[in-house]
Amino acid sequence: MSYVPPEESAIAFGNKKSEVEETTRPTFEFDPKRSEQERVALIATDGSSDPQGGLIRFWSHSSLQQFQTCPFRLYLRRVKRIKEPDSDAANRGTLIHDEAEAYVKGEREELPSAKKADEFENRFNLLKTMYDAGKVEMEQNWGFDIDWNPIEDDGKLYKNPKLWALTKLDVFIRENPTSARIIDHKTGKKWGNEVKHGGQAMEYAISAFMRFPELEHVTTEFWYLDTGEESIRTYTRGDIMLLLPRLTTRAIKLTSATKFPPKPSDTACKWCTYPASGDCEYGGMPV
Ligand code: SF4
Repeated sequence: MSYVPPEESAIAFGNKKSEVEETTRPTFEFDPKRSEQERVALIATDGSSDPQGGLIRFWSHSSLQQFQTCPFRLYLRRVKRIKEPDSDAANRGTLIHDEAEAYVKGEREELPSAKKADEFENRFNLLKTMYDAGKVEMEQNWGFDIDWNPIEDDGKLYKNPKLWALTKLDVFIRENPTSARIIDHKTGKKWGNEVKHGGQAMEYAISAFMRFPELEHVTTEFWYLDTGEESIRTYTRGDIMLLLPRLTTRAIKLTSATKFPPKPSDTACKWCTYPASGDCEYGGMPV
């Protein structure tokens, strides 16, 4: 399938993505000779002037990642609603997250089935104690509007037309009025993912500071349950205020985007299933 930019009239809608229709406009010509800078500029200049007026009205960590790696893949998933089959690794990740949650809540006696979960046993048991004391919240969905005002999760968060940012957390601990910890259970590797996970930690911290104005310190902890490693980062409100404009600009580029050109590369296409389903013709194309 070649990418066909939608007509302007198909763009201004809430969550009714099904209303976007194929048009007869000329297809976006992917030119492998186009520089990365030109492609980014193309995406930026093709956006709506309304920061939330693009084809995708809210972003999460994974959609932001995918928008950067290959906008067309995100378009197929979020706008065309073509679901990719879950990989074995993704299914296993979900299972281990569910097991970790059940263990902390006292609904399961065994530690999660990750390879090195036993190395985190003491910390899991401490979490369990804190959960019993009402200090730990598990599997949270935090929503924000375009001005970073929190939106309560009333069970219909995804349908709220104001939703612009969505942060999903494994564990949130309010240590005291001005300090909090966020824990993320990872089944992937730490090595090679430092930049990506650093960005995710920053997004968690920004979300916590935006949700709780009285917070002054946030610590993020990534527990790599298969390798026994961990990664801890600390943020002050001052740090975050410096990082906030950059993340906001990146996210608005996504939520105002009206064109999602393919960006094939060995790394981007390696795990993409859209070539196999016939939805993208660029799979495996070297750049
Ligand atoms: S095959 Fe490559 S270019 Fe096509 S959607 Fe997937 S990641 Fe993008």
